[in-house]
Amino acid sequence: MKVQAAISPLESVMFDTLRRFEPELVEIRRSIHRHPELGFEESRTSDLVAEKLTSWGYEVHRGIARTGLVGVLKVGSSHKTLGLRADMDALPIHEATAKPWASQIPNRMHACGHDGHTTMLLGAARYLAETRHFNGTLNLIFQPAEEALGGAQAMVDAGLFRRFPCDAIFGMHNMPGLPVGQFYFRSGAFMASADSLDVTIHGKGGHGALPHTTVDPIVVAASITLALQTIVSRNVDTQHAAVITVGSIQAGDVANVVPATALMKLSVRALDRQVRKLLLSRIEDVVRLQAQSFGATATIEARHGTPVLMNDETQTRFAHGVAASLFGDSHAHYGAHPLMGSEDFAYMLDANPNGCYFFIGNGDGEGSCMIHNPGYDFNDGCLTPGAAMWAGLAEGYLKA
Ligand SMILES: [Zn+2]
Ligand SMILES: [Zn+2]
Repeated sequence: MKVQAAISPLESVMFDTLRRFEPELVEIRRSIHRHPELGFEESRTSDLVAEKLTSWGYEVHRGIARTGLVGVLKVGSSHKTLGLRADMDALPIHEATAKPWASQIPNRMHACGHDGHTTMLLGAARYLAETRHFNGTLNLIFQPAEEALGGAQAMVDAGLFRRFPCDAIFGMHNMPGLPVGQFYFRSGAFMASADSLDVTIHGKGGHGALPHTTVDPIVVAASITLALQTIVSRNVDTQHAAVITVGSIQAGDVANVVPATALMKLSVRALDRQVRKLLLSRIEDVVRLQAQSFGATATIEARHGTPVLMNDETQTRFAHGVAASLFGDSHAHYGAHPLMGSEDFAYMLDANPNGCYFFIGNGDGEGSCMIHNPGYDFNDGCLTPGAAMWAGLAEGYLKA
């Protein structure tokens, strides 16, 4: 396949060099794509990354949150430090693209483009090691388990920023539906917080013919489901975005038995830390008091909440400036809409707020397919502009 980038043909050394790497990058991307690995199991991918980085002269630190690794390259005498992050994990989806490089493993697929993210950062890694046109310490962070498994937090907990101090950090994700190789930025809240709650209603089971002798948890769950809808519509400021989704209600097996318990699974999202707090506290009140009004009780188990992803304004403007100077104003968009999806990089920005997460368009033409879909594929046309963006950020932040 001929790889076509949407960028204007800049005759710069950077683009000439990166175009030379392109065939190898396409090969690496497709090799990772053929061998997708789930979160914290990315041993082949991690080996491949470590081998490439080592061969290009990086000091490679492995085993940070199991399969995570950091490649360090120090050039010159500056004390400035920079962290660039890519994610490596795949999803438990059965690929349906029928492409020659489709997943060779059933029910495993790079359906979020992390194969491409890893490869774009490797492209920049090679370029920066060859050219060494910067002054400072470059930390290339390859994180495991981005897909709701807490890989970013695990790396932070394993001492990521203590061992590899970063004055600023950046993350990049592809986005289908946007033109290939164009860049999208937003300062402040860009991706939502996401909390998963398991609510168990404890009622009293019994014969379906004698409901007055029971406390029916199904009726309680139904009432709670409706009452929860009033939180976003009646409690949250109308100028703020919030989502409460009841994604699952499980209770009972047969028609003539009232079960003793019901389990509800909730997804809760917000773009503001205060709104997130409000949602969680109102949910607790509504669930507890609704249950109580029926003579039931309820327990809430909150699991692994991703924080709101907050981009620093200075670093967002800086990254936007890098994209604009490399690709032109028409390819660098400031003020992108925030999304109610969540992103693990929010944990890294929580620990190290001086940074920015941004999107690279994955293509908006025919065949453009959303991430987490069996028909999705990372667009190899992003490899060169993505690697150039990383390289430009490094050269700009760690100015020689
Ligand atoms: Zn994903
Ligand atoms: Zn992703």
